[in-house]
Amino acid sequence: MAARKPVGSVALVGAGPGDPGLITVRGLALLRGAEVVVYDRLGSSALMAHVRPGAEQIYVGKQAGRHVKTQDQIGQILLDKAREGKTVVRLKGGDPFVFGRGGEEAELLVAAGVPFEVVPGVTSAIAGPGAAGIPVTHRDAAASLVIATAHEAPGKAGSRLNWNAVAAADTAVLLMGVERLPAVAEALMAAGKSGETPAAVIQEATLPSQRTVTAPLSKIAGVAKRAGIHAPAITIVGDVVRLRDVLGGRDQRPLSGARVLVTRTREQASDLSRILQELGADVVEAPAISIEPPRSWAPVDRAVRRLADGGYAWVVFTSVNGVRLFAGRLREAGLDARAFAGARVCAVGPATAEALSSMGIAADLVPSTFTTEAVGAEFPKGSGRVLLARADKVEPGLDEALVSKGWTVDKATVYRLAGGSRIAPEIRRAVLGGDIGVITFASGGTVAAFMRLLKQAPPRTTKIVCIGPVTAKAARAAGLRVSAVASPHTIPGLAAAVLDVAGKKAPKGRRTAPSKRPARPAPKR
Ligand code: SAH
Repeated sequence: MAARKPVGSVALVGAGPGDPGLITVRGLALLRGAEVVVYDRLGSSALMAHVRPGAEQIYVGKQAGRHVKTQDQIGQILLDKAREGKTVVRLKGGDPFVFGRGGEEAELLVAAGVPFEVVPGVTSAIAGPGAAGIPVTHRDAAASLVIATAHEAPGKAGSRLNWNAVAAADTAVLLMGVERLPAVAEALMAAGKSGETPAAVIQEATLPSQRTVTAPLSKIAGVAKRAGIHAPAITIVGDVVRLRDVLGGRDQRPLSGARVLVTRTREQASDLSRILQELGADVVEAPAISIEPPRSWAPVDRAVRRLADGGYAWVVFTSVNGVRLFAGRLREAGLDARAFAGARVCAVGPATAEALSSMGIAADLVPSTFTTEAVGAEFPKGSGRVLLARADKVEPGLDEALVSKGWTVDKATVYRLAGGSRIAPEIRRAVLGGDIGVITFASGGTVAAFMRLLKQAPPRTTKIVCIGPVTAKAARAAGLRVSAVASPHTIPGLAAAVLDVAGKKAPKGRRTAPSKRPARPAPKR
């Protein structure tokens, strides 16, 4: 007799409301280990990047408003995969048990004897308003909360929703399509909720595209419609909505609504992306270049030996990569920071100095502005040997400046910048279609590589922001109009320059002296 196949398992995992950072630790661990992932939110694509290569991914959600699979078919997929002995993750938006039909899927698994686990998620019903600066309860404003869905048109036979109960709660959160909003507002008012009650609709909560509108209940449907609010959206009704004016939402950050393209290498993009995201930007990464090892390490290895023998008066680093790759070669030769003992060290800017510092080396010289030009200008005169450890294609200005100050210059190519071979078609379309507000460049090499991939200039309305004068020169040479040059020439400086060209202009003095302090909700009696 054939041995019975072992039954697999199914985990119903809450994916959170949209921001990929809002999945639980347990949920992410299961997602990473899954052999089959059944998912239904296109917005979960960032989470799907954690799925291991080779795992089966089955999309069962909606496409153009139509369900790709019926609930019965979804249930059947879960059972079939589990019976094949697979570890299955059923990824569901928000919390699986809040209007997600997770209960039905769980019942089915129990009935079939399939081992299952539920991993709760951050529900959009609570996190959505929270992300808009609206706490669903508040000591002064709301002691009760009702979460309802309005799939059926209010009043229609078969609607099981008790509108009196919804209207009686201090805070009502409604998960539903926006087209229901006029009828829902009517139903709430008919059930006794005042038309003056503050209301808000939050679209794509916790995502970079989040938008919020607020209005009294009697007007909210019209306001949302005129603003073009679309699904997915949450409606919240209650005095707590007023707190948004005090707390501020994600969509009120300085770069909210701005799409910013980061062209740095994949390894380097993260710092800039993180800063921009914290400012509210929708960041799109398009690594135009990659870092490759030099064609030969021999010249670098010779330089390393000469350094260890005390042959250099100075070593100059013009990038974090230069430090990182040179340090790797030093280790390869069985050496460490002590090889620098006889030499002084120069770093082009604070990030490069920081990279040196993590090797235990304090830079002797960081110029007052962070450019290679400034290194040349501020470098002392002398007559020994200087080692320049850097990328392959660089402008000759620094070498010439050092030679004119009396130094003998050794150049070691510690890495090559290779142009990327492709740009994702959807990113190219977004850039050329003017959907990207700002493009950032952190090196001249990136400008050239990016423009080679784009093949065509972006629209004139797209703002171009460069880290420093050399990069700006390269951008102008490529036919771009530069909107801003960072100062200081650092990644935080670059983010600040993006803020200058794309940030919301805060009303004068808003931070220090609010002219009209938003009213706090009236205390509950
Ligand atoms: N289980 C989910 C809710 C599923 S019902 C949860 O706990 O969040 C689907 C409804 O949730 C949508 O119609 C919409 O009203 C709401 N929704 C889910 N994610 C949302 C988001 N990021 N922004 C706004 N509404 C969202």
